[in-house]
Amino acid sequence: MSLNDACALNVLKTAEEDTHGWKMMIGGEWVESRSGKRTASINPAHDEVIGSVPAGNAEDIQLAVDAGKSAFPAWSRLHVDERARHCRQFAAAVRGMARELGMLDAIDSGNAWVPMVEDAKKGASLHDFFAGLGMEMKGETIPTPGGGLDYTRPQPFGVIGRIIPFNHPISFAAGKIAPALIAGNTVVLKPADQTPLSALWMGKLVQECFPAGVVNIVTGDGPTCGAALVAHKEVRRIAFTGSVETGRAITRAAGIKSLSLELGGKNPLIIYPDVDVEKAAAAAVAGMNFSASQGQSCGSNSRIFVHSKIKVRFMEAVLERVAKIRIGLPELETTQMGPVVSRRHYERVMGYIDAGRKEGARLVHGGGHAPGEDLQKGCFVDIAIFDNVRHGMKIEREEIFGPVMSVLTWEDEAKMLQEVNDSDYGLCANIWTNDITTGMRMAEAVQAGYIWINGHGGKRFKGAPFGGFKDSGLGREHSIDELMSYTQIKNVNIAF
Ligand code: NAD
Repeated sequence: MSLNDACALNVLKTAEEDTHGWKMMIGGEWVESRSGKRTASINPAHDEVIGSVPAGNAEDIQLAVDAGKSAFPAWSRLHVDERARHCRQFAAAVRGMARELGMLDAIDSGNAWVPMVEDAKKGASLHDFFAGLGMEMKGETIPTPGGGLDYTRPQPFGVIGRIIPFNHPISFAAGKIAPALIAGNTVVLKPADQTPLSALWMGKLVQECFPAGVVNIVTGDGPTCGAALVAHKEVRRIAFTGSVETGRAITRAAGIKSLSLELGGKNPLIIYPDVDVEKAAAAAVAGMNFSASQGQSCGSNSRIFVHSKIKVRFMEAVLERVAKIRIGLPELETTQMGPVVSRRHYERVMGYIDAGRKEGARLVHGGGHAPGEDLQKGCFVDIAIFDNVRHGMKIEREEIFGPVMSVLTWEDEAKMLQEVNDSDYGLCANIWTNDITTGMRMAEAVQAGYIWINGHGGKRFKGAPFGGFKDSGLGREHSIDELMSYTQIKNVNIAF
C-alpha cells in the first residue's frame, strides 16, 4: 500500500476493525452480503485497492427493508422531540469523529482532508437543523359546511430508500438521512459504489445513537443494489441524489412512489461589466469547488458568461487564483485539491478536455495530468480553463463534473440570456452585477432553482430550499419543504 501518512493508515485500520472488516449495518448488526460477494474500494490518489465492501443485492435490500419495517412502529410513535434527541446525539457523535471520517473520505474519494472534515460537520449540522424544525410538521384545519371538524395530519411513509452519489460521501450519508428520520420514517441508505467506506464506519455511530433498524446501510452497485431498493414494493418514498441518467432510470423503475431527485447541473455565472473584477474572479474560482471536490459538485459554476469589456482582466485574475491552488495527495493537510474519484472518471474528464480542444475552445490553463512526482500514479487532473468557448460546444452543454471551467464572452444581454437558458439543466445560477435592478431582473429570467446574486456555488444556506428546474431534478432539500416531503398528508373529517 502506498499510503504513507501515519494518520491515514491508522484511520483505515481502525475503521476496518470497527466495521468488523467493512460489513454492512442491518437491524443494528454488522452483516456480510447474503451472496458473500465483495467489491473493491479504490484510493484514486494511488489507484490502489484499500478495502472491499459487501456487494449487496436484492436479498440484502429485503433484509434491510424488513429491519426498517420492524423498527418503524416504535420510532414513528416516539414524540418528535424524542426523535430529535437521537438525531442531536448522532450529530454530536459525527462531529466528534469529523477528523477521522474526513480522513477516510480523503483516502476513499480523493477529496482533500481538511474540507472533508468540514463536510462531516455539515452533515452533522443537518440533524440539528431538522431536529429544530420537527415541531413545524403541522397540519391544517379546513372549514367544512354544516359544522364538524376537518383537519390534516402529516404522517411518515414507513421505510425510506436513500441513494447518494460519490462526491460528498460522509456529508451526504450523515446529513441526508436527517429529515426522513425526524419525520418519523426509518431508512435504508445506499452509498455510492466508489466511496462506501465512511458510510459503513458511520454504522458504528448509528448503532450507538439509534434503536436497531432505524438506519440501515447497504453497500453495492447501482444497477443491482440501488435498483432493488427502488423497485421494493414496501419502500414508498425514494430520495435520490446523483446523475440525470440514473434519475431517469429510477423514474422508470420506481412505479407509484413518492420521488425526490437531486440531479446534475451546468450552472451559469453571468458577469456584468459594472462589477469589481477581482471579486467576480474570486467567486468564479471558489464557485467551481476545485478545493473540496475537484469541481465534482452539482453546484459548480462551470459556464462563465463574462462581459467583453472586462474579459481580459477577469481571465488574468482567474488564472492568478487557479495557479495558487495546491494540488496534492488528499490525506495531507496542505492539499487543496486531490484526484478525481476514479480512473474511469479521470478518462471521462480527459475526454471532455480533448473535445473542448477539438471544437476550437482555447485551453489557457492545465488540462493535462497534474504535475508532481507523487501524483503520477493517481487520477489527478490539472485544472482546465477554457477561453473562447461558444454556446453549443460539448464542454458548454454537458455536465463534466470535474475541474473544467468554460468561459464565454457576451455583449448582447438578450442573446446571452437565451444561451444561458438554452440548457436541459436548471440547478443553480450566479449573477454578478452592482445594479440591483439588473440582478433582480435576471434572477427572474434565468431558469434555475437556486440563484445567487453576487455570491457563488460554494455557498448554500440552511433553510433555503435547494433543488433544480428542468432535468436538474424534482423536490427541494435543506428546508422545511424537504422535511414535509418525508410525510404524506392524511385528512380527517369529524361530524359533530
Ligand atoms: P450516479 O447517478 O452514477 O450514482 C448515484 C447513486 O445512484 C450511486 O449510489 C449509484 O450506485 C446509484 N445508482 C446507479 N444506478 C442506479 C439504478 N439503476 N438504480 C438505483 N440506484 C442507482 O451519480 P454519481 O456519479 O455518483 O454522482 C454524480 C452526479 O450526482 C452528478 O450528476 C451530480 O451533479 C449529481 N449530484 C447532484 C446533487 C444535487 O444536490 N443536485 C448533489 C451531488 C451530486
